[in-house]
Amino acid sequence: MNNFNPADNIQDLQYFGEFGGVNPSISDSSTYTFLSAKTMFDTFEGNMEGCYLYSRHSSPSNLYLDQAIAAMEGTEAANVSASGMGAITPTLLQLCSAGDHVVSSRTIYGGTYAFLKNFAPRLGISTTFVDITKLDAIEAAITPNSKVLYCETVSNPLLEVADIASLSILAKKHQLTLVVDNTFSPLSVAPAKLGADIVIHSLTKYINGSSDTVGGVTCASRAFIDSLKNVNTGASMLLGPTMDSLRSASVMKNLRTLHIRMKQHSYNAQYLAERFEKDGLKTVYPGLASHPSHEIYKKMINPEYGFGGMMTIDVGSLDKANALMEKMQDCNLGYLAVSLGFYKTLFSAPGTSTSSEIPLEEQAEMGLTDGLIRFSIGLDHNIERTYQSMKACMIAMEIL
Ligand code: PLP
Repeated sequence: MNNFNPADNIQDLQYFGEFGGVNPSISDSSTYTFLSAKTMFDTFEGNMEGCYLYSRHSSPSNLYLDQAIAAMEGTEAANVSASGMGAITPTLLQLCSAGDHVVSSRTIYGGTYAFLKNFAPRLGISTTFVDITKLDAIEAAITPNSKVLYCETVSNPLLEVADIASLSILAKKHQLTLVVDNTFSPLSVAPAKLGADIVIHSLTKYINGSSDTVGGVTCASRAFIDSLKNVNTGASMLLGPTMDSLRSASVMKNLRTLHIRMKQHSYNAQYLAERFEKDGLKTVYPGLASHPSHEIYKKMINPEYGFGGMMTIDVGSLDKANALMEKMQDCNLGYLAVSLGFYKTLFSAPGTSTSSEIPLEEQAEMGLTDGLIRFSIGLDHNIERTYQSMKACMIAMEIL
């Protein structure tokens, strides 16, 4: 783990464009010609390395991005998709059939929660949601039908930390596939190096970083990625959440600056979290000593990239949260918007937005309060200036 340097792995990939361009050429085709009919047959059968058939299966541009993200996560292979949900749902459907059971963290992205809670049961797949920080409770939830243990490295929106190495031991003991959504912590954490079998990202967030597209990726063994793309039985191939080549080329260009951006996101979030906590606000950030999993997370991360750009504060009520967010937007401190990983700070109240799929009583049980504001801290150049302006908004709204 200590010798694993994901940014170097990305940098070491060398691609030339068709005419010697410094960026790889974009494959602007949905279908590909064959000089012989026999080669077409062999390609369909999966026997022809380097031949392209049809872009829902593979395209040269998507394969470049697959390769770069697999290098970043230290997995054999990867498969990009049209959105994060377009990576999560085929992965789970490839792993589970009718009668199978999933053990999942209860604090996960609302869309993933809704899929497991409401949609997967239509296909005979059931889920038990657990507190991912309680290994005993997780083990107790495993049944003979359990196939998957699912979590996010740092959970959305409560920023709970999954102890991936311990979860991996548990998963291996019960022959479960450990699937980890690493969207909040690219470069900081390498789940596969800690024992995860499959790593997923919503590329929409930090990896692309410019809030101009949705995208996703599944990183895993070559065998699993091939199974996702199998023309007869592959969930990605058959459900069709394919990323467009033009988009994968643009995500690839943004990936080049991820290491610089993650450092600044983390630096700024750590700075604000420390100050807001000192000011007496209920602040949750994995880089604070007060975070219940601070010590565990410290051991999991690559310290160069810090504790990430996500933090929450609880201002007591939804009305106060809404008023503060509107005020901060008026003062140009960020946008009242869902999503994360943008150059500018984004804030939202998860209970009424990204986690609104979770019923109110379950939100209360997991500690998702009304007054919680989730911040994705931006790349602000002068974070002290930002802190002073945010503090002025909080004083104006009688929160401080
Ligand atoms: N995983 C996490 C942790 C997320 O926050 C999100 C979206 O907010 C997703 C997955 C879904 O990704 P997408 O919106 O790209 O489908």
